[in-house]
Amino acid sequence: MNEADSEEMLLHLFGFGYQKTSVLNEADLVLINTCTIRDHAEHRALSYLGRLAKWKAEKQGRKIIFAGCAAERLGKLVQKRFPQADIICGAKSLDKFPEILEKSSLFKPIKTANTPKEASKKVTGQVSIMRGCSCKCAYCIVPYVRGEASSISPEIVLENCRQKAKTHPEIMLLGQTVNAYNYKGFTFAKLLEEVCKIPEVKRVRFLSPHPVFIKDDFYKVVQDNKKIARHLHLPLQSGSTKVLKDMKRLYTAEEYFEIIKNLKQLDFLISTDIIVGYPTETEEDFKQTLELVKKCNFSFAYCFKFSPREGTPAAELKEIPQKIVENRLNILLNEIRECSALAYKSRIGQKEEILFETKNSGRTSGNLWYRTNTLEKVGTIKEILIKDSNGKILK
Ligand code: SF4
Repeated sequence: MNEADSEEMLLHLFGFGYQKTSVLNEADLVLINTCTIRDHAEHRALSYLGRLAKWKAEKQGRKIIFAGCAAERLGKLVQKRFPQADIICGAKSLDKFPEILEKSSLFKPIKTANTPKEASKKVTGQVSIMRGCSCKCAYCIVPYVRGEASSISPEIVLENCRQKAKTHPEIMLLGQTVNAYNYKGFTFAKLLEEVCKIPEVKRVRFLSPHPVFIKDDFYKVVQDNKKIARHLHLPLQSGSTKVLKDMKRLYTAEEYFEIIKNLKQLDFLISTDIIVGYPTETEEDFKQTLELVKKCNFSFAYCFKFSPREGTPAAELKEIPQKIVENRLNILLNEIRECSALAYKSRIGQKEEILFETKNSGRTSGNLWYRTNTLEKVGTIKEILIKDSNGKILK
């Protein structure tokens, strides 16, 4: 989501004559798009903003925009403690970013705007289909900084997809709970179906789905549309139904596994997110997570130590000693590494459709990386027989 938001903000900045650079000393403007999901991310953003005071003072006219979720949560504090930030634009105000720029006397739109060349180089075009989240997971700050879920009209989404598909063969639909999309009865499954009808779209992905919103119409639309990638990043968070209940995740471990079974029948590979050391997680709960991980055979997982976020119900709970959490995390990471290697090796001898993202590498529909010694055209899809894998890449 943040990447898509950054891209959108960049597009508006191009309209003010800016070009993208990753060299700080060449820049006249620094855009910091922040995340607040973990304490660490927020600290890093603030400390970077602090360090930029010197950069700004070195040359007249340099500007700083501090945007996103941390800007939403800590806007007032940032305004007080970091006067170097010229514009503070919280996550709930990102839709108004162009107006904010226009209203500010610091920015003047130019008629011959630069085109976002680097955006079109990518194979995947990201399209936001909804904003915010109406789930209230006990550990999560997102609903507080991004607000309630609201779906963008299908007309706007489909037009954005058509535009992106001119230069990006793969479309990634984005939302905090992307499959909760529902615009006046126009469901996520219907939207997927319509995106697949766009001739230039060769592959469709979406992020992040929530298990509770996976319905029968989704399986049906997947069955009928080969363009829908056979990969789902489906956050699990815990393999213990008791902990899932404490987290207010709205599904049981058994229900999650049922979904995995259905997806595997459709040849899906599944990756996930897991939180280790949630305050109510016992050794037995952790064991259940490990067992479910083995059963699901994830192709990949982001595993995080529980990080209390001020203002959420979970932040009130007594934390588990860090040593125990770290130990559990290491055990889980080892398990995930094994699962991931298995996922890669299981494709040896099979034909896979590779969408080339560079001249010699690309991804399968199941989101596994492939590399070859031959040169291919970026953006093309080729069916290739997988001959080998080292457990991290297909060959
Ligand atoms: S579904 Fe839960 S974890 Fe995901 S954004 Fe919403 S509240 Fe946060």
